[in-house]
Amino acid sequence: MIRRRTPPDRRAEKKSPRQRLAALLCAVLLLCGCGQAGGAEPVKRELFAMDTVMELTAYGEGAGEALDAATAEIARLDKLLSTGNPDSEISRLNAAGSGAPGEEALAMLQEAQRIYERTDGAFDVTVYPLMQLWGFGTDAPAVPDPAALAACLERVGMDKLTFSDGMLTLGKGQGIDLGGIAKGYTSGRLMQIFAAHGVESGLVSLGGNVQCLGTRPDGEPWRCGIRDPEGTGYLGIVRVTDAAVITSGGYERYFEEGGQTYHHILDPKTGYPAQSGLVSVTVVSANGMLADALSTACFVMGAEKAIACWQTCGAEEGAAFELVLLTEDGRVTVTEGLKDAFTTDYPLDVIERASGG
Ligand code: ADP
Ligand code: MG
Repeated sequence: MIRRRTPPDRRAEKKSPRQRLAALLCAVLLLCGCGQAGGAEPVKRELFAMDTVMELTAYGEGAGEALDAATAEIARLDKLLSTGNPDSEISRLNAAGSGAPGEEALAMLQEAQRIYERTDGAFDVTVYPLMQLWGFGTDAPAVPDPAALAACLERVGMDKLTFSDGMLTLGKGQGIDLGGIAKGYTSGRLMQIFAAHGVESGLVSLGGNVQCLGTRPDGEPWRCGIRDPEGTGYLGIVRVTDAAVITSGGYERYFEEGGQTYHHILDPKTGYPAQSGLVSVTVVSANGMLADALSTACFVMGAEKAIACWQTCGAEEGAAFELVLLTEDGRVTVTEGLKDAFTTDYPLDVIERASGG
């Protein structure tokens, strides 16, 4: 049984799915720190999709229609991208071993490839066979046999994919899993849909992954609480405008076996859940898809490599992002761009951009 970790005092209680959904929603609401702001009435929608609880909030005249369109878009993307749905485009590609991805899947695969290269393979959407072997996404995940794991690892690697003339061909036994990038892509799409309906102020939380449009209606930045994996409170609060705030952590989805916990973010080099000394990574970026992919990648890479990636890739045109890292020794590190936008009770280190020379 894969679980979402809830605070310790709640863990023992038996709850109905509906009660669990309500509890999760509360956590997400709290997390966003996005209650009513500045007088305007928010229009809200809550739903379950992509295996997570989603909360959509929009302000202003077009808000109701924007939320209808956003809900339809989530359903469309879930059908397109989910490996849990055998009819999805990705599932069909995995089953066939080759195919011509549609425009959107192609754009996501291209971004995945770029991040694969920038992160030395820490982000790798070909983890699909590994995810299957571990049984993540099923009711009975288990630690695999080491020989089976070694054999499975042979099939992992975006370098074994071939793209040519719009056709993608997978290597033998390979499969694609866009789970590390899909929610960020989706939240980015929702911002476009909000804007197309005249919404200037809105916020979505897709299982705690937040993206906001504009400012709050009162003109102030949105305040996003980053969950503290150790308790029920916040690790810190980041104030943002027009940005995605996306967190990856080993405390989110995991199972227990032999007294150990195993989470769902795998190190493509070892095939085991990543153990990089990081407890959680939050990426803040105007680009939701980038923030999502990088949150997964940085969690795998660990603090040092994540910061090196920020220094180099984060300085590339159109690829700006900032980081909030929580390490196992209880320290919080933020990159320079969040220096004035982040508040925390933890000891805080700020990383400055290295000068060119
Ligand atoms: P969440 O979806 O819980 O917010 P992430 O964005 O970090 O967390 O995505 C984790 C998902 O990404 C996994 O469920 C799996 O589908 C996929 N994944 C796991 N490890 C990797 C990896 N190293 N590179 C790319 N995708 C991964
Ligand atoms: Mg991610």
